[in-house]
Amino acid sequence: MSSILPVIHQVPLPLDRLILRDPPSADAIEMDVLIVGAGPAGLACAIELARLVKRDQAADGGLGELNIGVLEKAESLGEHSLSGAVVNPRAFRELFPDLQLSDFPFRQPVPDEAVYFLTERRAQRIPTPPTMHNRGFYTASLCEMVRWLGEQAEALGVNLFAGFPADALLVEGQSVRGVRTTPSGLARDGTPGPNFTPPTDLTARVTVVAEGTRGALGQAWREWQHVASPNPQLFALGVKELWEVKQPLGAVVHTLGWSLPADAFGGSFMYPLGPSQVALGLVVGLDYHDASLDVHELLQRMKLHPLFRRQLEGGQLIEWGAKTIPEGGYYALPVRRVGNGVLFVGDTVGFVDVPSLKGIHYAMQSGMYAARAAFAALKAGDPSAHGLASYDHMIEGSYIVDDMRRTRNMRLAFKDGLYVGGVKAGLMTVTGGRFPGGMIPMEDDARTGRTTGPSTPFTPDGRLTFGKLDAVFKSGNATRDTIPSHLLVGRDIHPEIADFYSHLCPAGVYERVGDKLRVNPPNCIDCKATDVLGPRWTPREGGSGPKYRAM
Ligand SMILES: Cc1cc2nc3c(=O)[nH]c(=O)nc-3n(C[C@H](O)[C@H](O)[C@H](O)COP(=O)(O)OP(=O)(O)OC[C@H]3O[C@@H](n4cnc5c(N)ncnc54)[C@H](O)[C@@H]3O)c2cc1C
Ligand code: SF4
Repeated sequence: MSSILPVIHQVPLPLDRLILRDPPSADAIEMDVLIVGAGPAGLACAIELARLVKRDQAADGGLGELNIGVLEKAESLGEHSLSGAVVNPRAFRELFPDLQLSDFPFRQPVPDEAVYFLTERRAQRIPTPPTMHNRGFYTASLCEMVRWLGEQAEALGVNLFAGFPADALLVEGQSVRGVRTTPSGLARDGTPGPNFTPPTDLTARVTVVAEGTRGALGQAWREWQHVASPNPQLFALGVKELWEVKQPLGAVVHTLGWSLPADAFGGSFMYPLGPSQVALGLVVGLDYHDASLDVHELLQRMKLHPLFRRQLEGGQLIEWGAKTIPEGGYYALPVRRVGNGVLFVGDTVGFVDVPSLKGIHYAMQSGMYAARAAFAALKAGDPSAHGLASYDHMIEGSYIVDDMRRTRNMRLAFKDGLYVGGVKAGLMTVTGGRFPGGMIPMEDDARTGRTTGPSTPFTPDGRLTFGKLDAVFKSGNATRDTIPSHLLVGRDIHPEIADFYSHLCPAGVYERVGDKLRVNPPNCIDCKATDVLGPRWTPREGGSGPKYRAM
C-alpha cells in the first residue's frame, strides 16, 4: 500500500489560454449581453433580461433594443444537461408569474418520500432529515426543462448559439470584453483539417458566465482577479441512469450507506419520472480516501441491492451520464461574483445546497438577479464592477444565501466519515446551523491523500449492470475520433496514478496499459471529475461530448 497526493500530478490552470488579452478580431460579433452556458442559470437570465428590455421599451424607458446572445457548447440545447432531479418550483413561479404549475416542464409531483440506510442486503428506513423534505416539489428531466426554457427565451427574441463553446475570456485591462469560441475541424495533431472553422470573437458590454460546475472560465477569472473564498470549493461526482421500468415508483427515494465505504461522503437517489421511468444515481464526494474508488462501479454494485433490483428488474437502461456537483456550500462561495463587464451565476459560483441536493432553483434565481443587475447597469451606462454590484447585494440578501448559511457546515462535517458526520449534521439541523460555531476548515479535494491497494474486480452482467464503454454509448456520445485532446495531463504519471485516473473517470477516458496511461479523449462526457483531481478539462470543438435526451 502507498499513497497518492493528486495535486502533485496536476498541471496548473492554463491561465494564458483562458484569459486572452488579444484585441477582439475585426469581424467580432457585437452583443450587448452575452451569456455563456444554456443551463437553467443562463436561460433564466436571458428570459428575465429580455422581459425587462421589452417592458422598458413599452414604457419608453430609453434603453432601446438589446442584443442578447447565449452560447452553448452542446450541439443542441439540453444535450449537456444532467441533474437528478427534484425541483423546487419557486424560481419557475417567479420567472413565469402568468403560468400555472401544470404549464411547467415537470414530469410529476413528488408522491411520497423515503430515506433508507443500506447494508449489503438490508434497507433500514430512517426518518427523513428535515433538509431532505421534498413535499410540494416536482420530479423532472433537466434536458427537458432546458429545452423548454430555450423556447421561452427564443420567443422573446434571445439569440441562441448552440454548438459554440466559449474557449476563453477576452479581456482589456481589468475588464472582460467578451469571449472567443473554440475552433472546430482541427486534426488530432492540432493543425487545421479539411473542415476547419476558425474561432469567432463575440464582444459584449456585459458577459454573464453561466457555464455550470467546475467552469474553466470562472476558475480562470477568479485566479486572474485574485478572488478567494473562505474555504476551497469541494466537488462530488454524480453518476446517473435513466430506466424504463415495469412498475411505477411510488416515492422519491434517497439512500445512505452501502455500496459506499464508511469514510466516503455520498448517497444515492431514485426518482419517479411518470408511470414508466425512473432516474437513479449515486453521488460521492471527491475527497474520498481509497484511490481505487470508482463511482460508476459503485452504482453498478448498488443496483444489485434488493431495494433497487426490485424496481429495475425486467426494465431497460435508456440513458447514462455523469456530472460533478459543487458541494462546498456557503464557505466556498467566492467573496465577489462581479467584475468589470462580467457576472457569474449558478453552479460556476457554487450555488448548491448539498443537504437537500438542490441547485436548479438557485441557479435560475441567480440568473434572474444577474439580469436585473445587468439591465440596471446598462440603463445607467455603467457596466463596471461598481455598476454591476447590485448583483452581489441581491445575492447576499436572498434565500439562496440564507439557505446555504443554514447548512453551512453540514457537508464539511462529513470529512470525518459517515457516522461522526451524521451525528454532527443532526446537531447542526437542530441548531439551525449554529453548531459548531465557526467554519470547519477544508482543504482542496486534490490535496486529500489517497491510499492505493488492490481493488475487487467487478464483472457487469449487461442486463442490470454495465461497464463503462456500454455506459458511454448510452450517453449518446459520438465525438469525432480524430479530435485533438482537450485534456491536459500532468507529468510523472506512474502506474498507480494511471490506475487512480481510470477508476475516477466514469467514462473510461483513462486506461492503464502496461505501466503507461492511455487517454481516449473522444469518450469524455464533460463531467469534470478529473479537472478536480487530475488532468485538466478545456473547452473543445462544439457539439463534442454527450447527447443527453432526458437526463
Ligand atoms: C447527479 C446530480 C443530481 C442533481 N440533483 C438535483 C436535484 O434533484 N435538484 C436540484 O435542484 N439540483 C440538482 N442538481 C444540481 C443542479 O443540476 C445544478 O445546480 C444546476 O443544473 C446548475 O445550473 P447551471 O445553469 O448553473 O449549470 P448547468 O446546468 O451545468 O448548465 C451549464 C451549461 O453551460 C454549458 N457550458 C459549459 N461550459 C461552456 C462553455 N465554455 N461554452 C459554452 N457553454 C458552456 C454546459 O454545456 C451547460 O449546458 C444535481 C446535479 C447533479 C450532477
Ligand atoms: S475525462 Fe471527461 S469524462 Fe472523464 S472524468 Fe474527466 S471530464 Fe469526466
